[in-house]
Amino acid sequence: MSCDFSLGHYRELLRAAHSGGYQWAGFDRPPEPGVLILRHDVDLSLKGALVVAEAEAEEGAWSTWFLMTRSVFYNLASTEGERAIARLHELGHRIAHHAVWPDVDLDDRFDPVVSWHNPDPDYMRAPIPGAVNVMEETFFDPEHYRSDSNQHWRHGCPHEDLREHRFEWLQLLTHPAIWAFDGATMRESMESMLDADRAARLEQLRNDRIDLS
Ligand SMILES: [Zn+2]
Ligand SMILES: [Zn+2]
Repeated sequence: MSCDFSLGHYRELLRAAHSGGYQWAGFDRPPEPGVLILRHDVDLSLKGALVVAEAEAEEGAWSTWFLMTRSVFYNLASTEGERAIARLHELGHRIAHHAVWPDVDLDDRFDPVVSWHNPDPDYMRAPIPGAVNVMEETFFDPEHYRSDSNQHWRHGCPHEDLREHRFEWLQLLTHPAIWAFDGATMRESMESMLDADRAARLEQLRNDRIDLS
């Protein structure tokens, strides 16, 4: 099994967790032994998020999707954004908020759960009034946390440890664009994402009555 950042290996990760006996869970209650909390910070692409969300549903999994209201890459208030939220709910997933410090824009689109985008250490784990901070003590400590930032697992790909049930419980943070778009490096995955985006942008221009003849 090759630990690449492909949709195929993401599915293998989910299957490994299933074989390891883990139960899917969210941020609505403190983690119990044997749970796997799948968290996705959606920084770049709603399209990428939906690709991963569909794959999870096919594998019998569900997760919590942290969506931005202040992304420079997508607009959650657009038709595309509304459709993405509706589809994620349809697939059985949960929606939470990926916030840009210091603004928390929680409204009825979101469960009261927040992750900070690129947080500084001084506020990363601080309590947030009226909401769960995913990095607060209840949900985070280094033994129970893994993340795929920039196609780099600091402690190695967790699939084997999941299959062997070596984590008591785990919060697993993944960034869907890394897995949804092909590429052996972060640069290549981003190029794939931009290629797909160009085609989508042309379609949006046509829909906006721009003459592309
Ligand atoms: Zn792996
Ligand atoms: Zn982020």
